[in-house]
Amino acid sequence: MSLISLPKLGRGGRPLRIAYGRIFHEANAYSPLITGMDAFENDFLLKGQALADATGINGSELPGYMPHAELTGFVQAAKLAGGVETVALASYLAVPSGPIARDVFEEILRDQLERLRAAGPLDGVYLALHGSMEVKDLGEAPEAVILRRVREVLGEGPMIAASFDLHGNLSKGIVDALDILVAYRTNPHWDLAPTGFRAGTRLVRALRGEIRPTHAWRKLPLVLGGGNTIDFLAPMRAVFKWMKALEEDPRVVSASLFMVHPYTSAEDLGWAAHVCTDGDEALAHRLADQLAEKAWEQRDVPLPPMLSPAQALDQAKQSKWRRVGPVTLVDVDDIVGAGAPGGNTHIVRELVKDDRGMQCLVAVHDPALLAETWDAPLNVELELTLRGTPGYNMPAVPLRAKITARATSDMGRKVRLDVNNVHIVLTEKPPLPIHPKFWRDVGLDPRRAAVIVQKNFFHYRIFYAAMSFDHIPVVSDGATSFGRVKTRAYRTPVHPSAKIADWRALDPALRG
Ligand SMILES: [Zn+2]
Repeated sequence: MSLISLPKLGRGGRPLRIAYGRIFHEANAYSPLITGMDAFENDFLLKGQALADATGINGSELPGYMPHAELTGFVQAAKLAGGVETVALASYLAVPSGPIARDVFEEILRDQLERLRAAGPLDGVYLALHGSMEVKDLGEAPEAVILRRVREVLGEGPMIAASFDLHGNLSKGIVDALDILVAYRTNPHWDLAPTGFRAGTRLVRALRGEIRPTHAWRKLPLVLGGGNTIDFLAPMRAVFKWMKALEEDPRVVSASLFMVHPYTSAEDLGWAAHVCTDGDEALAHRLADQLAEKAWEQRDVPLPPMLSPAQALDQAKQSKWRRVGPVTLVDVDDIVGAGAPGGNTHIVRELVKDDRGMQCLVAVHDPALLAETWDAPLNVELELTLRGTPGYNMPAVPLRAKITARATSDMGRKVRLDVNNVHIVLTEKPPLPIHPKFWRDVGLDPRRAAVIVQKNFFHYRIFYAAMSFDHIPVVSDGATSFGRVKTRAYRTPVHPSAKIADWRALDPALRG
């Protein structure tokens, strides 16, 4: 019998058995909206056989968003390795929003652990996690709690692998609990499936004794906003390129850079570098040090200039790009894609004061005003007050407006209010006008607008690529204001609010 025809078997001559699942959420601690189970049920929730079906090559793991994500990538890695039996647990994913309610987190964890117990004897578990979850009144990184409880169920033998969003915040409770740790290597993130695949191949190799994962990590007293952290643009391009090349070295199991989500209330928030080698501890430490240093060197690259709503509208009025399509104002302090509620009223306040003769489209989360106007007569001038998200402390904006359209979509109910050239779309849920259809639903043609306000950094550009050619960041005040991040208290001094001579002096405290 040739060696090639031998099945690759796991421990004791039987196939490896590996369970897989997901608990994934990015929290915004500055949002007044608490995330409940309905968010997971409305977004992406799959259990048992439904998850197994969805993570097959013809399935769709995150329908309408990305058919093949981490768990499909993992299942493919297991299939390719051969001799691996996979067991689907459950996949919980909600889009970014406020912190998760404590009882909801406990219920999700209880469900996963019950499935883990029911799975029978296992050699390993793979979990797709985020790393910037936050649970109301938990007082600890939720991912560390998840991994600890999973270990309690598994006992000492089986290995645990996890993948993370590169906006995760690494901590000792996470790193020490894991045999395999990988993270996305693209920002914006398109490599969800490749990340799960990398976790799978490494876990299988470790379980077969082909590699001996040896971890080292460093943590930087550094929290930056999103503008300079794109993996394919300067200044981070060179760092990511160097890091990706590390995994081509057979001695290196994985290399990851974590740039954190700045809007949680974690006291130990900070960028982190993690390197895993095949049994070479000195090499792991040396490379983690180098990766941390390379990231640290980029800390003072200036951000693009940020304008107030009035300055941004003046600039849009002057923009030569307005002749070929609407100018986009990016509401950087109310980014719904980073968990903000979308009820910022600062830009609307400036627009209704002076629209500068431009047709403007803007969406605002205001469920109270939506309820008040849902049954009101169309095309009649009304005195209304826009207040934004309840509890968000936004300026109240008095409006003399006509209700001109209403619609119900998968993002909930919408009401269109017209104030001269300004078209305000009130929403029941945090608004994400990523697709032009958002406006067309209420009779607006985004191509004919002069200004469109987005509450998203990047993804809208896919759908507006042939339409909008000028993108102006606007600052006001909201759940994704970097000003709030800079002035809050952390465990150690943090760049850029503090000037730090040497990150190495603070690294032990941040990793403690
Ligand atoms: Zn992310």
